[in-house]
Amino acid sequence: MQRRQFIKSTTGLTAGGLIPGIFSEATKAQYPELDKHKISHTEVVELNYHWPRFVGKNGRIDFHGQDKKLIVLKIHTDQGAMGWGLSQKEAENHTQFVSGKAVGDLIQPGTGILASVDKSLDFALHDLMGIILDKPVYQLLDNKGTKANTTYSGMIYLDELNPENKTKGIDAILENCAWDYDYGYRQLKVKIGRSGRWYPHEAGLAKDIEVVKAIYDAFRDRQVEILVDSNDMYSLDDTKAFLKGIGDIPLFWVEEPFTEDARLGRELRQWMNQNGFERTYYADGEARPQFELCMEMASDKVLDVYLEDIYGLGFTNWMKLGTRLRSENILASPHAWGNMLKTHYICHYAAAYGGVPTIEGVTCLSDDIDFGTYPLVDGKKTVSDAPGFGMSILK
Ligand SMILES: [Mg+2]
Repeated sequence: MQRRQFIKSTTGLTAGGLIPGIFSEATKAQYPELDKHKISHTEVVELNYHWPRFVGKNGRIDFHGQDKKLIVLKIHTDQGAMGWGLSQKEAENHTQFVSGKAVGDLIQPGTGILASVDKSLDFALHDLMGIILDKPVYQLLDNKGTKANTTYSGMIYLDELNPENKTKGIDAILENCAWDYDYGYRQLKVKIGRSGRWYPHEAGLAKDIEVVKAIYDAFRDRQVEILVDSNDMYSLDDTKAFLKGIGDIPLFWVEEPFTEDARLGRELRQWMNQNGFERTYYADGEARPQFELCMEMASDKVLDVYLEDIYGLGFTNWMKLGTRLRSENILASPHAWGNMLKTHYICHYAAAYGGVPTIEGVTCLSDDIDFGTYPLVDGKKTVSDAPGFGMSILK
């Protein structure tokens, strides 16, 4: 689906209607402080961060590495306020439009950014708005979710294939699971799909089953829940063979078994319902999401959790979608892989809209970024109450 079509279909059905081209005076009158701040200048900055360990292959993509960079946009006002957020280099092409404008002419609580403001400014403007109004972002939205939400580790990869793990085999994966458990996670998302690229087909399927069984056996006394993600590398038959292979091990969700497809999805859902996986969620819509198809599959009770990326879709579009999903009783867990800024943005989304059964946790460390106060205790992450998104740049 074309993006324009998507945004129309997403926003057209919400209570708030389309993203406005201009805010009414009545809307603006509620937050006069936003009109006192005019955008003085912007900066696009590259920041360093790293994952706590080397991250290996998933079913589809080769080694992910450890040391990473991300691009953020800082937006300053003539009153000395500054907000920042995940962005991209191309933001430089769109910042001229906001220069000299009042913040209240670009963004409003609950509505988000104007249709004419580029998506690359979305997160920085939300942060700035929260800082000016001295409120965490989630309190400026619907505020219908919960502050503490189950959060899973999304960092259990095909780590037996990492060069340094040649002699360790599955023990390398179990060590990573133990690290994530000690860090506070009580859900582990395990990458599977070895049958696609990295192993002969049958050997890959057998290894996927062996890995999940080993993790279950190692953590079964500690109430750890397992999610699996094939990154679209399974067929329907592979998915059934995998689920048969793990037997009665409970799974929290099955993610991207294959590219979303109405017929295959329905067959999988029926098979899962008849074979002991009726309580396991089917999550999809991450890679090249087919939005309308996913919504149809969700209405048909085939797809349970919609996964489109928090940055890729944008915060304002997710706000519009969150209202619609809540009215239609569809769950979501915006994709966060890459960095913890995204995990924390989703904490605000979840606190505002609810309907998030679990959040993707991407553990990150950085000398350039203070990721704020979002404690992870017994598997639940609590949203920060600091103004804006509550994170800061250290360099
Ligand atoms: Mg995934």
